[in-house]
Amino acid sequence: MKVDVLIIGQGLAGSLLAWELLKRDCRIMIIDNGEENASQVAAGLINPVTGIRLVKAPEIDTLLPIATRLYAELAEYFQQTFYIEKPMLRILRNANEAIYAANRLADPAYREYIAEADSTDTRPSPFGCMQQNHTGYLLTQSLLSCLKAFFISKNCYRVTNVNYSDIELGSSPRWQDISTQHIVFCEGHRATDNPWFSWLPFRPVKGEILTLSHQATLPDNILNNGHWLIPTTDQQLRVGATFDRGNLNILPTEAGKNELLDTMQTLLPGFSAEIIAHKANIRPCTADRKPFIGRHPHNPQLLIFNGFGAKGSLQIPWYSRQFVQHMLNGSHLPTDCDIKRYAEKY
Ligand SMILES: Cc1cc2nc3c(=O)[nH]c(=O)nc-3n(C[C@H](O)[C@H](O)[C@H](O)COP(=O)(O)OP(=O)(O)OC[C@H]3O[C@@H](n4cnc5c(N)ncnc54)[C@H](O)[C@@H]3O)c2cc1C
Repeated sequence: MKVDVLIIGQGLAGSLLAWELLKRDCRIMIIDNGEENASQVAAGLINPVTGIRLVKAPEIDTLLPIATRLYAELAEYFQQTFYIEKPMLRILRNANEAIYAANRLADPAYREYIAEADSTDTRPSPFGCMQQNHTGYLLTQSLLSCLKAFFISKNCYRVTNVNYSDIELGSSPRWQDISTQHIVFCEGHRATDNPWFSWLPFRPVKGEILTLSHQATLPDNILNNGHWLIPTTDQQLRVGATFDRGNLNILPTEAGKNELLDTMQTLLPGFSAEIIAHKANIRPCTADRKPFIGRHPHNPQLLIFNGFGAKGSLQIPWYSRQFVQHMLNGSHLPTDCDIKRYAEKY
């Protein structure tokens, strides 16, 4: 069987890349090992203003419209909503954050993304709150299920683990019965085992998330005090996420659960809810916090599309377009994400 592109990994990266390639009539095959991945566990949050210094994400004005347009396109195609826009209340934790918030509120570059919080809001914080706009979350699990069914219907999907030693290099690389022009690795944190790309400075970070059910009526906004709480339906909410660089496994822990339950109590004092899911997975973060995309220095038919860290929902739509244009038309990749920046380390 001949294809143009063989994609390894059907997380959000492999899926949205495959969608872009199919739109351009490319022949593709996606291989995924069927294990639960970071994309399925993720909250899918998009938050333009983040961190203790409340900084606007670089390139947000470019990335966000492309992301929301793509999720709307997918919603139209599958007749199902995937991206839920919901405002966020940022609860300021200390005097420093309150100073940053005041500075950002006075800065015209932030006007579209933040505003004074509604003064009637009674969230417990001596340092006050700030309203964030253009925030929301992607229903990644539903989106990946729809895309998987779609790929299966197009005969371009297989469930199996790819052993790297089964890949034969050459001008048309082969894997099993498939010969291809390009192999694109989208293995998330598993890229650290990839013999062609493990030299890249990945810095994977484990994260845990709780899903809870409750009977209360909650205000319809996301709460954020460094951790976040998302009311997802009338009776469910999600709280997350932990950051752990030391224990790189996908086991939910008692410590992670307690940290998140404490967050819920800080955000909603006295609130009672029942845990219905507790998940963990690993974010494919990178040393310089920029994606790892581009061609292998010595085997240009091998490519990587990875390193989206904690911001896959926002970044992958725009980067998948750039990547496809690079593969098909030879256009340049943005230098700050092209793996050429680490080529001397290879
Ligand atoms: C707890 C947690 C919370 C998060 N919250 C958010 C959030 O709120 N917002 C946000 O934007 N991002 C969030 N993220 C990050 C987000 O998950 C990632 O940015 C994104 O999902 C990465 O997608 P990916 O496709 O690169 O990797 P993955 O989703 O991990 O997919 C990689 C796929 O490749 C497959 N694979 C690997 N090796 C092989 C092989 N040899 N053969 C076959 N298949 C293989 C894996 O099984 C997997 O299916 C969170 C992550 C975690 C863990």
